Amino acid sequence: MPHNPDRSLERVSSFASDRRAFVLGAAAGALALPALARGSLLAAQERKTKHVVLVAFAGGVRTRETFGAPSNVPTLEALAKEGVLYKRVKSSNLGHFGAALSIFTGISEARGIRENARGGDPTLFEYVRKDAGLRASDVWISTSGGAQQTNYSYGLHPDYGARYGANTVDGDGLFNAEFKSILEAWGRPRALPAKEAELLGRMRGAIGGGSAGSGEDSARVEKYILDELTSGTADIRGANAADAKAIRVARNLLVLFKPKLVSIVLQQADAAHGSYNGYLEIIRRNDEALGELWRAVRADQELRDSTAFVILPEFGRDADLNSRRGLDHGDGSNDLEYVTATCWGPDFARNRIVEEDVQAIDVCPTVCELLGASATKARGKRLPKLFA
Ligand SMILES: [Zn+2]
Repeated sequence: MPHNPDRSLERVSSFASDRRAFVLGAAAGALALPALARGSLLAAQERKTKHVVLVAFAGGVRTRETFGAPSNVPTLEALAKEGVLYKRVKSSNLGHFGAALSIFTGISEARGIRENARGGDPTLFEYVRKDAGLRASDVWISTSGGAQQTNYSYGLHPDYGARYGANTVDGDGLFNAEFKSILEAWGRPRALPAKEAELLGRMRGAIGGGSAGSGEDSARVEKYILDELTSGTADIRGANAADAKAIRVARNLLVLFKPKLVSIVLQQADAAHGSYNGYLEIIRRNDEALGELWRAVRADQELRDSTAFVILPEFGRDADLNSRRGLDHGDGSNDLEYVTATCWGPDFARNRIVEEDVQAIDVCPTVCELLGASATKARGKRLPKLFA
């Protein structure tokens, strides 16, 4: 591609003014917050991390098939070499739903969590939206599908809840965004990269004259954005198709709209109950899809040096095969109870292996801290030895 000095200058100045606006806005906002929250926000501003990708590599995945056999997961292996690897992460063995939810709430609490219902505790999405003041358009969760997974986006705690929830999108088109606030955020006049400006132009065209129109217009714009977010997902086939679509949607989101927090929830590795080989294939393909996501982030001038990844399964699987030559989860073994977490980002240490025990519920307070919020009700602690 020929170098275009005007374009570069434009991009540089747009970043500079965005950064200035962000810092000024955040600093002004910080003055209104209690001392603890103000401290978190100011500390976060000092860091390079401005975007976090949190991947629940869920469905039950043992370390034996990931870092125990690195040729299955070249992406995770490469991320770990440039980042921090936690080898003993105690999972919350509450069933798939409860265990994945505990990554988002920082609370390992089976009581009150029913399958297919929202929990009572705030999620990290709610903490960063309420306490760090992130906009609705900045906080997303991309799921592999199923109505149950929309329950990750917020809990029922009276101080938090739906108004601070994440936007949920999945690879097959379910989209529950609070659409007006998204439009408002994206419709603000500011210098935009060409692709984003074009998108915005087309969005405005679709709603007519730049004003938010009738419900029917909004539905058209919503469909348009959904089409952009799910671009490329229709062709995805294979054993991990739903997981790979969720990863593709997250990639589109990040590259097009640069949100601050994108979480991805995978689930298809649970095919292991019936087939060990099927499970292995899904792990390999999901690693490949995460590799695509990572490459897209590194190819993006803005995301490259400002994006952190945190990736972990919700729990592992049994030590031994079942009678169907599959793997269940219920034997209480180390294979089941401990997983490996991979962290990569501009503020993290490089090529560091942490052998001490940590917990899956430590992820929520860690991500919150990165984005300038405190997970005040979470029971986990910030992951140790993470920062460079
Ligand atoms: Zn299962």
